[in-house]
Amino acid sequence: VRKAGGNSIMSLSKEGHKALSRQATIEKHLLLALDQKNLNVLYQPQLDIQTGKIIAAEALVRWVDESIGVVSPDELIPIAEETGLIHSIGSFVLEQACQQALAWQKEGIPLKVSINVSIREFRDKNMARSILETLERTKCPADLIQIEITEKFALEAESEGAIMKQMRQLEQEGIVFVLDDFGTGYASFRYMQLLPLKTVKIDATFIRSMMQSEKTEQLVRGMIQLAKSMQLTILAEGVETAEQFDLLKGFGCDLAQGYHICKPTAANAVKNLYYQKA
Ligand code: C2E
Ligand code: CA
Ligand code: CA
Ligand code: CA
Repeated sequence: VRKAGGNSIMSLSKEGHKALSRQATIEKHLLLALDQKNLNVLYQPQLDIQTGKIIAAEALVRWVDESIGVVSPDELIPIAEETGLIHSIGSFVLEQACQQALAWQKEGIPLKVSINVSIREFRDKNMARSILETLERTKCPADLIQIEITEKFALEAESEGAIMKQMRQLEQEGIVFVLDDFGTGYASFRYMQLLPLKTVKIDATFIRSMMQSEKTEQLVRGMIQLAKSMQLTILAEGVETAEQFDLLKGFGCDLAQGYHICKPTAANAVKNLYYQKA
C-alpha cells in the first residue's frame, strides 16, 4: 500500500465511488419510477418558418425523483442506455406521445409528435414491432409520429442492414424519420444516404455560433441548401433569438425549434401556442 501522494489517489477513488453510487442510486430509483409511471413528458413546438404555424412538437422526458431531485436527460439517457432501461423509457415516452398526438387530433389540432430514439435501439430486432404494437394499442395513426434518430455512438457495420430493414418497415406504415444533431453525429453523411429520412435537424451548436462566425454562418447556409437539394425538410434546433430566426428564414430553412419560439412545456401550453399562431 502506497502512502506518499496517496491523497490524490484516495480522493480520486472517492470521487469514483461517489459517481458509481449515484449511478447505482439512479438505476434503482429509475426502475421504481418506470414501474409507477412516475416520469413526465414535456413538448417543445416545431414551427414552420415560412407560414409561421406550429406543425409538430418534440416529446422530451423529464424526471424528478423524490430523493434524488431533478435528473436531466443528459444524465439520465446515457445511464438508461448502459443499463438497458432505455427501452422502458422509450416505450413510456412513445405511449405518452401517441396518446397526446391522438388527443390533439381529436380536438382538430393537426400536430405530429416527435420522439427521440438512439439508432442503437434498433439493434433490438423487436424494436419496429414493439413501436407498431404501441401505435395499435393506443389507436394512434402512424403518420402522427416522427422518430428523431440520434447517433452519438458508432454503429457496427454488420447491424446496419437489420436496422435499415426495421426503419423501412416503420416508414411504410407512415412513420417519419428525422436525423437529429445533424453535423455533430457520428456519421451524418452516411446516414443521410442510407436512412429513410424526411427531415434533417441542424444541431444547436451551429445555430449558437452562427452569429459570431462567418464560417459557421456559411456552413449553416450550406446545410440548408444540401438538405433541399436532397428533397429533405430542414429544421434548425436551439433557435434562441430573433436574429438567428431571421437569418435562418433568409436562408430558406423550413422549420425552427428553440426557446425563441417556446421552451419545452406542458401539452396544454402547446395547444394555446398552436391557436395563437394559427
Ligand atoms: P435533443 O434531442 O437534441 O433535444 C434538444 C435539447 O435542447 C432538449 O434538452 C431541449 O430542452 C433543449 N433545448 C431546446 N431548445 C433550446 C434552446 O433554444 N436553447 C437551449 N439551450 N436548449 C434548448 P433536454 O430535454 O434536456 O434533452 C437533452 C437530450 O436528451 C436530447 O437532445 C435527447 O438527445 C435526449 N432525450 C430527451 N428526451 C429523451 C427521450 O425521451 N428519449 C431519448 N432516447 N432521449 C431523450
Ligand atoms: Ca431530438
Ligand atoms: Ca441536439
Ligand atoms: Ca440529440
